[in-house]
Amino acid sequence: LIEAIGVDKQFGDTKVLRNCSLAVDVGETVVLIGPSGSGKSTFLRCLNLLEPPTGGDVFFEGRNITSDLRHADRIRRDIGMVFQNFELFQHLTAAENIMLAPMRVLGLCTADAHDLALDLLKKVHIPERSDHYPDELSGGQQQRVAIARALAMRPKMMLYDEPTSALDPEMIREVLDVMAELSADGMTSICVTHEMGFARRAADRIIFMEDGAIIENANAADFFGGLVNERTQRFLDQIL
Ligand code: ATP
Ligand code: MG
Repeated sequence: LIEAIGVDKQFGDTKVLRNCSLAVDVGETVVLIGPSGSGKSTFLRCLNLLEPPTGGDVFFEGRNITSDLRHADRIRRDIGMVFQNFELFQHLTAAENIMLAPMRVLGLCTADAHDLALDLLKKVHIPERSDHYPDELSGGQQQRVAIARALAMRPKMMLYDEPTSALDPEMIREVLDVMAELSADGMTSICVTHEMGFARRAADRIIFMEDGAIIENANAADFFGGLVNERTQRFLDQIL
């Protein structure tokens, strides 16, 4: 579905990504791990053209999307993204947050957008919160609204950038459960997360990044069977 080939990213003189290649098939769930500053967020942002790569190519559904940045709007519609800090619109209710883009971009009428929002809130297990404002929701609920909002554009894949790292421990599980359910339903996903329980449950493959490079790309069975290279293992020893 998506393939990065030799992606580089430089900010000024600083090389942040070095020759990163990754192919993700339809229906796959990939978990991306690595130390702070290793380039995980930048890599996700290059995949959906939030940051233009300074080298290499990204193909989406076989089309080179880096060759023509006019594809960027379309790509961001096809690729849903969820961030660490939810970034909901504070002055809109849960349902209104979800309705906004489908109405503006897809041209849905209010009634249809509202139906869609309620369906998606059911999918993330908080239909009763539709009329609540973000500050009336727990962190876990806000993040699930953010996931529903991303799903409202009917994306072909999802990118998650540390979606649970701003959450209290008791709320992490409910967000990971929703992500795992989406993955089980076939949503193609790349998740930056150090929640290895989630990786064990949902990931088909684990990627380890260090210093802007992809050091390891292992299928889940090998990874959890201990077949990882020494640098990956050293990192795992630190976080586990
Ligand atoms: P974390 O786990 O802390 O989120 P990360 O692996 O996501 O880290 P990135 O946020 O991708 O890492 O950052 C990689 C490197 O790129 C860091 O050294 C960071 O300072 C640098 N960087 C990121 N964005 C920019 C920017 N807009 N301008 C300059 N440098 C940047
Ligand atoms: Mg990051």
